[in-house]
Amino acid sequence: MPNKHNNKEAVNEHIGKDQSGAADEAHQFQAGNRSDRKEDEWKHRAPYKIHDDDSKFPAKWKGGCHCGKVKYELSREKPLASKRCHCHTCQRLHGAPFQWACIFHKDDINFVNGIHDIGWYDPSGKSNTHHLPCKVSCAFCRTPIMDEGRNMILLFPTLIEGIEKKEVRDNFKPTCHMFYNERAVDFTGDGIVKWDGIDNKSNLVDDDGNVLVKYEDGMEEKEMDEKKRKYFDGLQDSHPETARKEKDLKI
Ligand SMILES: [Zn+2]
Ligand SMILES: [Zn+2]
Repeated sequence: MPNKHNNKEAVNEHIGKDQSGAADEAHQFQAGNRSDRKEDEWKHRAPYKIHDDDSKFPAKWKGGCHCGKVKYELSREKPLASKRCHCHTCQRLHGAPFQWACIFHKDDINFVNGIHDIGWYDPSGKSNTHHLPCKVSCAFCRTPIMDEGRNMILLFPTLIEGIEKKEVRDNFKPTCHMFYNERAVDFTGDGIVKWDGIDNKSNLVDDDGNVLVKYEDGMEEKEMDEKKRKYFDGLQDSHPETARKEKDLKI
């Protein structure tokens, strides 16, 4: 008569003899070391693209995980945007008070090592299959590498070599705070635009989370952007000093 224990062994044995090559893979549910099957197609597409000639990639920055298995280069000097997200999901998944993420095109990155050593996590489905958008991390040391969206990637600049130097860090300057109302740390007086949810799709708030510009239900991103600009223009007349500081930011 089968018991639970025997069934478990049977399952393990099945995995070991799996025709798909699952037994060859270093980390269950992670990228694995194959690149020839249909399900490995993603490895040949941006942002991954194995077997491309690394010497042809115009690298501006280099980055990598803690253990060194995953290494990448970036061809774009400045990200398309840089945000600090204070949402609970980011806090939990990063084990940090907030997420600092820089948006790049998928073609801006070249993995020089470690495509087979990455793992995924899809926070909305709570699944570790490669379902976009998902979190991408090193499957060995678990360093978060990036968020992979459908069209863009969000990279974590703390992985970039030299980030401790001001001249490097300045390239990745945050343009806004998101989900500021869920924050675990305050950013008083940093002069960076704060949203209580997604940028341009929620209320614009001050350093203490009080609403400065209200987002109305159903507002288009463009409309909110306009309302925000009007607010800053008004500030220009009444508080030129505050306005000057805010103007340097991506508002
Ligand atoms: Zn690693
Ligand atoms: Zn977040």
